[in-house]
Amino acid sequence: MQTQTMAFQAEVAQLLKLVTHSLYSNPEIFLRELISNASDACDKLRFEALNDAALYENDTELQVRVSFDKTAKTLTISDNGIGLSQQEAIDNLGTIAKSGTREFMSKLSGDQKNDAQLIGQFGVGFYSGFIVADRITVESRRAGLPAEQGVRWASAGTGEFEVADIVREGRGTSITLHLKDDAHDYLNAWKLKGIINKYSDHISLPILMPKEVWKEGENDQPGEMVVTGDWETVNQAAALWTRAKKDITQEQYDEFYKQISYDSQPPLATTHNRVEGSTEYTQLLFIPGKAPMDLFNRDKAAGVKLYVKRVFIMDEAQALLPTYLRFVKGVVDSADLPLNVSRELLQESRAVKAIREGCTKRVLSMIEDLAANDAEKFGTFYAEFGAVLKEGLGEDFANRDRLAKLLRFVSSTTDTVSVSFAEYKARMKEGQTAIYYITADTLAAAKSSPQLEIFRKKGIEVLLMADRVDEWALNYLQEFDGTPLQSVAKGAVDLGQLQDEGEKKALEEAQTRFKPVLDRLKEALKDKAADVRATTRLVDSPACLVVQDGDMSTQLARMLKQAGQAVPEVKPVLEVNAQHPLVRKLETSDNFDDLAQILFDQALLAEGGMPEDPAAYVRRVNQLLEKA
Ligand code: ADP
Repeated sequence: MQTQTMAFQAEVAQLLKLVTHSLYSNPEIFLRELISNASDACDKLRFEALNDAALYENDTELQVRVSFDKTAKTLTISDNGIGLSQQEAIDNLGTIAKSGTREFMSKLSGDQKNDAQLIGQFGVGFYSGFIVADRITVESRRAGLPAEQGVRWASAGTGEFEVADIVREGRGTSITLHLKDDAHDYLNAWKLKGIINKYSDHISLPILMPKEVWKEGENDQPGEMVVTGDWETVNQAAALWTRAKKDITQEQYDEFYKQISYDSQPPLATTHNRVEGSTEYTQLLFIPGKAPMDLFNRDKAAGVKLYVKRVFIMDEAQALLPTYLRFVKGVVDSADLPLNVSRELLQESRAVKAIREGCTKRVLSMIEDLAANDAEKFGTFYAEFGAVLKEGLGEDFANRDRLAKLLRFVSSTTDTVSVSFAEYKARMKEGQTAIYYITADTLAAAKSSPQLEIFRKKGIEVLLMADRVDEWALNYLQEFDGTPLQSVAKGAVDLGQLQDEGEKKALEEAQTRFKPVLDRLKEALKDKAADVRATTRLVDSPACLVVQDGDMSTQLARMLKQAGQAVPEVKPVLEVNAQHPLVRKLETSDNFDDLAQILFDQALLAEGGMPEDPAAYVRRVNQLLEKA
């Protein structure tokens, strides 16, 4: 192949423009990105070589070399990793496969600090070289291919790039940056070492630089640094998690977290442990301070990377944590798994089961620790991840009690998401035997729900729940610490000892005296309501809907229907307030049926539902208004 000139995919060209024009505030990150790519290339080689050791070509010491040429004004980053074939160079360096790129571009805010953080997140790492270079040359050969099938790729970072065949003995990739005039300060070993220490210390491969020594000047000439021809390792070259805890600073943990998570903020909590015993592994796990946009996608893989004996095996190893902890980031390095472990095998492995249990416990301890010792961080955590944590009630029976203790709610007497079940219990009224809660589409709807009226009147606190997951999750939690949980929208209210004799009597009376009206209502609403009964739960409202114990709530049914799922038709019970003037009117009304329909539809509206026939509802109400 002769030299061919090709155009960048339109997205790349656009991206390059943005990279070079808006990301100069923190230009040094280019080195981190290129070293990280080199390290990935070595990981890929190691992984492919598990099945084909010949790929090593007798060169098993994987490493990254960083060197510069002061005269030519170039900086070169080389690796002996997997390398690129000619086609791969064209595909991987000329197009952006990831659909995330468009998203990346839409997110560029013009705030350079933010934008620089986004670069790694969307995999535009390689192109960050153009922040400091006006020309980049890549020479590469893929492991296993003959020397004649090397490739040279070059571009000035504008609309096009060139590719040509070359002969290249060494496997792997060398990336040479022709530095811009204002980037010549990178031609300095001391500066480069500083950047490597800052960003790339934890890279488990050795990063080498030419060794320099100080040569004294002669005859009063100043001395200078001269290159000896040897190479020296300039990073720790030990994966962060393999180092002793006492030798790692929080800053190093934070930096590591930022690199694996692409988050610009430090994590809320960090845990790092070597677990010994029947299954041996190291865990380094982080709780982020912010939820990703796709947090509620349960298919999204967890952010935990799996290593086996320090060899990278896979990203997003789902089997290592339960789905409800999918927001956790980090690394698990196991000594007990085979190197060729597959995702399928992971699901079945006993060692993985033990690791998963261990990691789950650790994460829960981290959260408990925040709850006990750092109210502000716990508040942040809960606002971001509280709703996913609740999924655990239905998913992780073994830890259900621990999870229940971590949950916080708004209640009818507080405005912040702060009430735990334990706190609620401590404030229960004398004679109160259940933890009362209500679920609704929104907190506002929950708060103004007619079902709360009697509770408010009696000063009984009710937990308000409006997360989509609440209804489902609460199904799995029948009690807390011996006290049953009771939805105030399910079944008849039985306030037990909280109800005084007078109220009980009034209810009985209402049921008997009102029976004829209730029977007529039942008949009029037989298609819509499973039953009609008098209630004491209402104070100001004429009627409300409740479902029978064990039935799905109307909100959940509505939610599932909207999601396109088949839901069994559940008819609610209409409860009426016999004291209410509107209900009283029924006894003497000459358009009973219309009034009955209005009563039902209003109860439905009050809980966020929609009358079956809204137009008919409006017509009936208007007729009444005309008469009034
Ligand atoms: P990302 O690394 O997020 O995929 P980059 O733009 O940094 O995005 O790199 C694009 C692709 O180019 C990589 O996915 C990889 O296939 C290839 N690549 C980059 N650097 C190297 C390298 N040093 N060795 C082999 N392949 C590389």
